[in-house]
Amino acid sequence: MKNIALLGATGSIGEQTIDVIRQHKTKFKLFALAFGTNVEKAVPIIREFNPAIVVAGSEQAQREVKEATGHRTILIGEDGMEAASTAAEVDVVVNAVMGSVGLPSTLAAIRSGKTIAIANKETLVTAGHIVMAEAKKHRTPLIPVDSEHSAIFQALNGERVEDVRRLIITASGGSFRDNSREELQGVTVKDALNHPNWSMGAKITIDSASMMNKGLEVIEAHWLFDMPYDKIHVLQHRESVIHSLVEFKDKSVMAQLGTPDMRVPIQYALTYPERLDFEDTKSLELEELSKLHFQKMDMERFRCLKLAFDAGRAGGSMPTVLNAANEQAVAMFLKEEISFLEIESLVEKSLEEHNNVSNPSLSDIMEIDKETRNRVKRYVR
Ligand code: NDP
Ligand code: MG
Repeated sequence: MKNIALLGATGSIGEQTIDVIRQHKTKFKLFALAFGTNVEKAVPIIREFNPAIVVAGSEQAQREVKEATGHRTILIGEDGMEAASTAAEVDVVVNAVMGSVGLPSTLAAIRSGKTIAIANKETLVTAGHIVMAEAKKHRTPLIPVDSEHSAIFQALNGERVEDVRRLIITASGGSFRDNSREELQGVTVKDALNHPNWSMGAKITIDSASMMNKGLEVIEAHWLFDMPYDKIHVLQHRESVIHSLVEFKDKSVMAQLGTPDMRVPIQYALTYPERLDFEDTKSLELEELSKLHFQKMDMERFRCLKLAFDAGRAGGSMPTVLNAANEQAVAMFLKEEISFLEIESLVEKSLEEHNNVSNPSLSDIMEIDKETRNRVKRYVR
C-alpha cells in the first residue's frame, strides 16, 4: 500500500489521479490532499477518502471545508502543503498544482526523500537547477506525469543517457493549430479553451494554444533528462497518439504510444517500475486510425516556442521570467484583460528587459518571479 499526498486535488490532473486511486484501492491510499479554493470539489473527495491531512488554500476555504466535513486536521497554504508533503507516512507526493506555487513544497518533499510524481512543469521551468540538484543530493526519484515526459522516461528505460542522439517531443498544436497568425488577432478565451485532443485545466489549455506549453515542456525535458537544448526537438503530431520519441546514436528510435488519456501516465508514475491493469482506458487500435500526421514546427508561427528555447539556452533567471510573465499574462487573458497575441508580446518584453542573473538562488527566483508578474501588470496598465 502506497500513501499518497496529492497537491492540487481539485484540478484536472488531481481529479484523474483520484480516479486512478479509486480503481486501485488496495494499492493506494489518499493520505493527504491539498487544494486551492474549490471547496465544492474538495468536500466530496474528503468525504469519500477521509484523508489524514487536508490543506486548503485560504482561511475561508479552510472554514468552509471544516463546516462541511468536520475534518479535524485542515492546514492552510504553503506551510500546510509542506507539512502534507513531508509527513512520515507519505510515500509518493503527486505535485499537480498549477504554477510555480508548487516549488517550496516540492523541494521540501525532495529533501525528505519522498518519491515525486511531477505534473507541475512550472516548478522545473522556474527552478530546474535547484530542484534537480536537490533530487540528486537526496537520491529522490522524480517521475514525470506529463505525457510527453512519461513517454521519454519509458523510452529511456534501461538506456544510457549518453547514447541518446535526440529527444523528439510531440505537439498536438492546440486549439489554433490550423489558424494563421493573422487569424489569431481577435480569438476569444472560449476559442482558446477548446482543445482538440485533451481536456485539461484552463492555464495549460491556453499554453497549448500559444505553444508555450511545448516551450515549458522543452525546458522540463532539459532538466528531467539532463539533455542539452540542441538535442531536444519538437514535432507537430495532431493525433496525440505518439506521446514522444527518443532517437539513439545508432538512429534507432523508441516511441511510446497510446490513446490520449492522462490517467495512463499518472498511473505509471504511481506504480513505476511496475505496471497495473487499467480496465477503464481504451486500447490503441491503429487500424481504426489508419493515418498519423507529422509536421515540422514553425518557430515563427509559434513564437512562444522560440522564446522558450531562447530562455532555456540563456539559462540563469531567464526561464523564471519566461514562466512568471506567462503565468501572469495567461491569467489576464483568461480575465479578458488582454488579447491572445499579447501573451507572447508581454513575455517577450519581460525577457528583453530582464538582466539575467546566473545561477539564481531560491530567494532570487522568488523575488524575480514576483517582480516579473508586477512588471507585466504595469505594462498592461
Ligand atoms: P488545474 O487548473 O485544473 O488545477 C490546478 C490545481 O492546483 C487545483 O487543484 C487548484 O486548486 C490548485 N491550486 C492552484 N493554486 C493553488 C494554490 N495557491 N495553493 C494550493 N493549490 C492551488 O490544472 P491542471 O490539473 O490542468 O494542471 C496542473 C499541473 O499539471 C500544471 O502544471 C500543468 O501544466 C500540468 N499538466 C497538466 C495536464 C493536464 O492534462 N491537465 C497535462 C500535463 C501537465 P483550486 O482549483 O481548488 O483552487
Ligand atoms: Mg504535456
